[in-house]
Amino acid sequence: MSLSLYLQDLVRGTRIVKTKKELEKSDFWSREQLDEYQLKKLQKLVSFSYQHVPYYRKLFDSIGLKPDDIRELADIQKIPISTKEMIRQGKDNLIADNVNINSYKIKRAVTGGTTGIPFAFYKDTQTRDFSWGAYYRWHDWMGIKNRDSKAVLWSSGAVIEHTWWQKCKSYVLDRMSKSLHINAYGLNKESLPDVAKQLIKHKPALIHGYLSAVLQVAKYFKEHNLTLPSLKAISSTTETLLPMYRQYIEETFNVKMFDQYGGGECNSMAFECDAHIGLHVTEEHCLLEIVDESDSYCYGKPGRVILTDLDNYAFPFIRYENGDSAIMSQKQCDCGRHSKLLESISGRTADVIYIKDDVPVTAAFFVSMFIELHSDWFEHFTRFQVYQKKKGELVFRLEKANKDKEYPESGRIELLKNLQKLANKVELEILDNLPYDKSGKFRYVISDVKE
Ligand SMILES: [Zn+2]
Repeated sequence: MSLSLYLQDLVRGTRIVKTKKELEKSDFWSREQLDEYQLKKLQKLVSFSYQHVPYYRKLFDSIGLKPDDIRELADIQKIPISTKEMIRQGKDNLIADNVNINSYKIKRAVTGGTTGIPFAFYKDTQTRDFSWGAYYRWHDWMGIKNRDSKAVLWSSGAVIEHTWWQKCKSYVLDRMSKSLHINAYGLNKESLPDVAKQLIKHKPALIHGYLSAVLQVAKYFKEHNLTLPSLKAISSTTETLLPMYRQYIEETFNVKMFDQYGGGECNSMAFECDAHIGLHVTEEHCLLEIVDESDSYCYGKPGRVILTDLDNYAFPFIRYENGDSAIMSQKQCDCGRHSKLLESISGRTADVIYIKDDVPVTAAFFVSMFIELHSDWFEHFTRFQVYQKKKGELVFRLEKANKDKEYPESGRIELLKNLQKLANKVELEILDNLPYDKSGKFRYVISDVKE
């Protein structure tokens, strides 16, 4: 284990090294071992939540369910599903009553996904340990060592200026993990030659980032006959990795791509292994259920993702519907791991919106902008929608959570100011109800731009 992970534990106040060692041991557990481990963790979390989290006590009492009724894993289906809206409304009752949210061990986080406006919640050290531990175990799967150089194409700090403390911490963490951070949303024809130079100089073994950003870099390298001989793997997240994009990037860099599934509520939910037939659910850390319209388990076809984070005791997510849809496979992976396999995650597909300089972004971009704004102001709204008629121009719509309640004007001005940096022309509309498309479906991103 490299020194850099020990140092990360010191900076982050985590126990990633210890957790990763545990996860290495459970990597090839049998199905029975995984089930037994999950059941124990689930029973503990349910008992704790019934005792310490008012939201779950009320939910359980409403149907006469007691923690002792969870005797086997299938019993989880007795617990009602909580939607994002239910959690948003009940969030004050979701903080465990024996947790001090001001402690350095508790981290404020923001919900993710490409649906709905994010809201703040809390994560304890244990859930962060398992998320990071599983993430670094995945590096082993890809053949990436801690001492290898990495390049990260990400949004953090791209829109909102970070504080000096955030910048310092990022600098130290980047140095320790040998990571070069590149602003994923600043890629355009002016910046790409410099980004290519930086990448060639940094010699990364791994490129990790948003798919649209990796794609842009790949396109530049292909068009200019450039190579990165140091590269061993490319990993992408947040956006759906369509086969044609995968093929293009793999052919350009002559390495394999690895997909990841995570979210603000629970990171490191599933990772692709080197057999490349799906994403293994991190079952030591989370329990994922994929259900159909009647809430029954479904396989081989898209269903709704129902998430239980088995490690977060500060703000538990039990049977939480995160708004994504995914396909659960019944196949056994060739790599020898017995954890469940997701064939694909389809909830992350979204129309592309072009911001300034023809830079393509998806709904995930705007969600990450809200997260960077860290503004409680967004709690006055339930959903957003971006409409584009012409490249570089945006109509940004927000739906009020409460029609009769006023929202502070300062938040509107701040959002508008940030949106104006991104586009040549911006309209911000605040509405009681957002429009649906002709088929009656709600869409987060609507584009009339013809390619
Ligand atoms: Zn596998």
